[in-house]
Amino acid sequence: MRIKGFEPFSASDWPGRLAAVIFCGGCNLACGYCHNSRLIHDAAPWLDEEEVFAELERRRFMLDGVVVSGGESTLQPDLAEKTARLKEMGYLVKLDTNGLRPEVLKPLLESGSVDFVALDFKTPLDDAWLAKICGARPGSAERIRESYRIVAESGAEREWRTTCAPGVTGEALLRMADELREIAGPEAPWFWQQYRVPEQGADPALEPALGFGEVSVLRERAIPRPELRGWDVDSGR
Ligand code: SF4
Repeated sequence: MRIKGFEPFSASDWPGRLAAVIFCGGCNLACGYCHNSRLIHDAAPWLDEEEVFAELERRRFMLDGVVVSGGESTLQPDLAEKTARLKEMGYLVKLDTNGLRPEVLKPLLESGSVDFVALDFKTPLDDAWLAKICGARPGSAERIRESYRIVAESGAEREWRTTCAPGVTGEALLRMADELREIAGPEAPWFWQQYRVPEQGADPALEPALGFGEVSVLRERAIPRPELRGWDVDSGR
């Protein structure tokens, strides 16, 4: 596993659980609002995987689980082997993914080596939208849709996460609600997260990000009803 970062203790990456976080290198998207571009692109050496697992062994009785995040976790060729190893150590395992690799997700869920999947839901499930916001290639929308179906039909805990980023309009969010309801039902756990300007700056070609007041009104019209996560309500937007 190509590990670019390791957070030995986090109370915020897995709701209700104490977890360590492994940040994998590399990604198959290029979202303009990415805060992990250094993890993905810089030339810093990988962390020593065995040192990370040794630290996890030492922390076994302090933590509930391990979050495998990124970058994009499903690009790791030994992901199945490493999640199984974490399970053997007694950890619960959460996977953060953009959903572009359903062929990886399906066997992982079938093997029972992942307990919780957090899926990005970045734009409507449409190639033009995904290209505009995330630099995705043609065919991406159907791959992501397939991942959503696989997770929805699995017994794993799950959530969908949307960053209310520049270019993601109110109309887009309501269309996404329709799409998610069709795939995962009206009670699907969905979170709308506040956009924060990344160090590379905002893309001036995109519509400004929606503010708290706008998303508060929109969420009342969306089914499933999203929860607002991580919003700075004092920001005045
Ligand atoms: S999918 Fe995540 S890690 Fe990859 S570019 Fe987008 S925000 Fe960054």
